[in-house]
Amino acid sequence: MRARLAIFAAFAALAGPAQAQATLPFVLKQLGTGVYAAIDGPDHKSGSNAGFVIGDDGVLVVDSFFNQDAARALVAEIHRLTPKPIRYVVNTHYHADHTGGDQVMRDAGAIIVAHRNVRGWVRTNNVNLFGDRITPELKARIEALPLPDLVTDTDLTIWLGSRKVVVRTVLGHTGGDLTIFLPDANVLFCGDMLWRKVAPNLIDGSVKEWAATDADFARMPHETRFVPGHGDVADLDDVKDFRAYLLDLQRLVGTGRKAGLEGDTLARDVAPKLRARHPDWSISDRAAASEIRYMDQELAGTKRRPVPLPD
Ligand SMILES: [Zn+2]
Repeated sequence: MRARLAIFAAFAALAGPAQAQATLPFVLKQLGTGVYAAIDGPDHKSGSNAGFVIGDDGVLVVDSFFNQDAARALVAEIHRLTPKPIRYVVNTHYHADHTGGDQVMRDAGAIIVAHRNVRGWVRTNNVNLFGDRITPELKARIEALPLPDLVTDTDLTIWLGSRKVVVRTVLGHTGGDLTIFLPDANVLFCGDMLWRKVAPNLIDGSVKEWAATDADFARMPHETRFVPGHGDVADLDDVKDFRAYLLDLQRLVGTGRKAGLEGDTLARDVAPKLRARHPDWSISDRAAASEIRYMDQELAGTKRRPVPLPD
């Protein structure tokens, strides 16, 4: 009987945390003292990556996922790791897969910090992001997203007690992008300025600006860890790989255009060449078709990007 009880207790002890971990829609990865990346799980139930920083007197969260349940799970994980209050959530950009859980963060005590353009875009332009996949429920959810409390169009330093968090404005993905850097841990939260081995969404982007920003990332010290918006935690080689992907896309679409290709014909020409150059990347047919179309528009000078709105 005692043996059976002991076995049961051991099993229960194993099952507890393992079960909790198994149900999380993201994988927490510690990148330094009090610095965590929350990487979207294999089923993509979070919708994107997020992360957080525990300072002396509070916690700063980076992005809030698309899925509110994932945001609640992130808050629970933070509370499991520290009794300190959640004070900020910094949105890397307005896209709903990074801002969908903002209300959860606000309810947990956070001030929502974002680029100044996010206020004008988060409830309207996110509808475009989903295109023909939009449902009435999703549209209503987008129109109810909270507006940021504190906005900036310049670099910002946030102090968590003695811990310095550097928020920078960068160009490339939407026209309202921020990165978050932890100098004491050499960790850069890149948002969608970096994707690791996943085809990026170019809907609002400028590849020209984007590649220039990633060139700046590539000049950071070798030990820097980069948290991308999608895909696993990245190193300097991944940053260079992503930049090479953008430049390959630009070059292949440019060559196709010079050969007179357009529309579906251009996509059919470029997609296999892009995949051949990046065989370890995940490039869905849908992603390939749309990024080739957007690249074509950028080179033609007809690309539409979100326009900053007055306050
Ligand atoms: Zn995005």
